[in-house]
Amino acid sequence: MPDRLRAHAQACAPRSHVPYSGRPVGVAALLADGRWVAAPRIENASFPLTISALQGALALAALTGETVVAVAASVPFGPTGLGEIEQAAGGAWALAAPDLAVRTDVDRPEPGEPVGLTVDLPPPPSVEGGAALALAAADRAVVPASAFPVGAAVEDDGGRLVVGANVEVAGDWTRGLCAERTALVGAVAAGLGPIRRVYVACSKAPGGTPCGGCRQVLAELAPGCAVVVWRGAEAPEVTTPEALLPGAFDGRALGRQGGIR
Ligand code: ZN
Repeated sequence: MPDRLRAHAQACAPRSHVPYSGRPVGVAALLADGRWVAAPRIENASFPLTISALQGALALAALTGETVVAVAASVPFGPTGLGEIEQAAGGAWALAAPDLAVRTDVDRPEPGEPVGLTVDLPPPPSVEGGAALALAAADRAVVPASAFPVGAAVEDDGGRLVVGANVEVAGDWTRGLCAERTALVGAVAAGLGPIRRVYVACSKAPGGTPCGGCRQVLAELAPGCAVVVWRGAEAPEVTTPEALLPGAFDGRALGRQGGIR
């Protein structure tokens, strides 16, 4: 198990968006049913909005509703790694190696198939169809604190789609990830190309809008894309990261190019 899970973490690392540090990281989480999911590190010109590979992998794992039983990284975990895993995944954990954490109170299967991150948009492809997909994705939200489920979908230039939903970590509000960001992590992990559209939907707040953090992350990863916001009975609203965050501070100020390629 350990070597195969490590291999998945290492294979995901090159997908990292690390224009600032130049240090890619991949993390793979093994689920109790044998599926696994991996995420790369995704940096942001605004430091704290960087999504660590560990945070990303745990968020994607949470969307499955399945128990996480082991986590491997392409580099040794940092000093807070085990605590982050315990808090997000629950149960009793131990470091079996500097790059491998295992849940000690359950059995661990061999890694099998990856969690399917991409979805097909029912034809005909349309902005409304993408918004409906985002709305359906909200059912996957893990929202113990807010009870405010949000869904999102990310579509690349080739029409490939990845969905996401917001994930909150019980007891630590600071480690949550919004639906847009979870979907973006999934899109980068799945190797999607330049992003054409990002869809967002919340049935509790049809008038809702992306938070400031997500606006910054959209400006970093998906400049120039269409941001499509579900509006209930009204037609979806279509905007852009640039309209949502005028004058954004992004990688260009640091001589780095943004966007997923
Ligand atoms: Zn947000």
